Amino acid sequence: ASDLGVRNITYEGEESRFAIDKSSKAIVRDPNKCIRCRRCETMCNEVQTVGVYSAVGRGFETVVKTAFDLPQHKTSCTFCGQCLAVCPTGALTELDQVDKVWKALNDPERFVIAETAPAVRVALGEGFGLEPGAIVTGKMVAALKRLGFDRVFDTEFAADLTIVEEATELMDRLKKGGRLPILTSCCPAWVKFFEHQFPDLLDIPSTCKSPHEMFGVIAKKYYADLMGIDPQRITVVSVMPCVAKKYEAARPELGRDPKTPDVDIVITTRELARMIREAGIHFGALPDEDFDQPLGESTGAAVIFGTTGGVIEAALRTAYEWITGRPLARIEFEEFRGMEGIKEAVIDMAGRDFRVAVTHGLGNARKILEKIQAGDSEYDAIEIMACPGGCIGGGGQPYHHGNMEI
Ligand code: SF4
Repeated sequence: ASDLGVRNITYEGEESRFAIDKSSKAIVRDPNKCIRCRRCETMCNEVQTVGVYSAVGRGFETVVKTAFDLPQHKTSCTFCGQCLAVCPTGALTELDQVDKVWKALNDPERFVIAETAPAVRVALGEGFGLEPGAIVTGKMVAALKRLGFDRVFDTEFAADLTIVEEATELMDRLKKGGRLPILTSCCPAWVKFFEHQFPDLLDIPSTCKSPHEMFGVIAKKYYADLMGIDPQRITVVSVMPCVAKKYEAARPELGRDPKTPDVDIVITTRELARMIREAGIHFGALPDEDFDQPLGESTGAAVIFGTTGGVIEAALRTAYEWITGRPLARIEFEEFRGMEGIKEAVIDMAGRDFRVAVTHGLGNARKILEKIQAGDSEYDAIEIMACPGGCIGGGGQPYHHGNMEI
């Protein structure tokens, strides 16, 4: 349901005038449910400044369409999912992959691993009537184990790997005179935006995969070897606040071959909440349980990946120590906290002024990238996340427009 209560309802005799667009791996668009409120259009313009949707026609004949009525996968849509977070009727929804997860869990041949992103544990509780921001890590792990996952691991383990990789890449560019600024690359919507809109700058983002994709490789190689499991038997399910990660996991270069992707299925926070309800689990009554080991370990730096500024702050903590040879006196970079669209800071790195920018929302990213294109940027490192506030405000988080029902 939604704030209008019609997300999942169909009416007898309902007329379907338009084909449902399931062309993308992330978003399903059903124009028959569209009430022309144009919230998607407003949000899309707000987030990425070149909107994917526009309203065409007059009065009752108005239809909200993609440009040239193209199927979603052929547009410049970044799949950030902010449009479906505001759609009140379910005309826009994420590609539902819950059935695929149930099928894997019910197949005795499959070894099914769940990995959960940092932003999920602070939002999942909302789906069960808890306060926004309630931390439900232990109950989330307990629920996943009761759903039948063979192992429940933490994407934060791989966020720590991302920190080390990005810091190493930054050090390398600084030593060898490589191109700066380095841009973070852990947000797939941001990466897709960049590929469409700034192809001439493709050499500046970090080459790191996003943490959940790194995790997929570790699970199917390191962990499979450690446990003596055939990687072909492993199904990796990422639980994410993100809609774009569904699209990302299906990118052909992110896997051994098209039949063996690094991550097999991505479900959103909303989809996990639905599975817990479908299984009849009383979420509030669950005991707190721990992640499985060894891929359940992580540092405090990995935790802050879920919010704007967190990725660069985490990478700088490591890079600072490597560059200056001494630990940081103060590990928090407060300059990167808060909801301002573009945040900037200058950090003294062994006598060198190191200029950093943090931005969220692709419209803000565009402003910074245009500066780089024009040769007017003095930044050394930039973090960019597509969603307002970072992943915590991801398109796959519980709906927050009035009705909390998943
Ligand atoms: Fe996904 Fe986070 Fe990027 Fe939003 S900011 S698209 S949730 S990775």
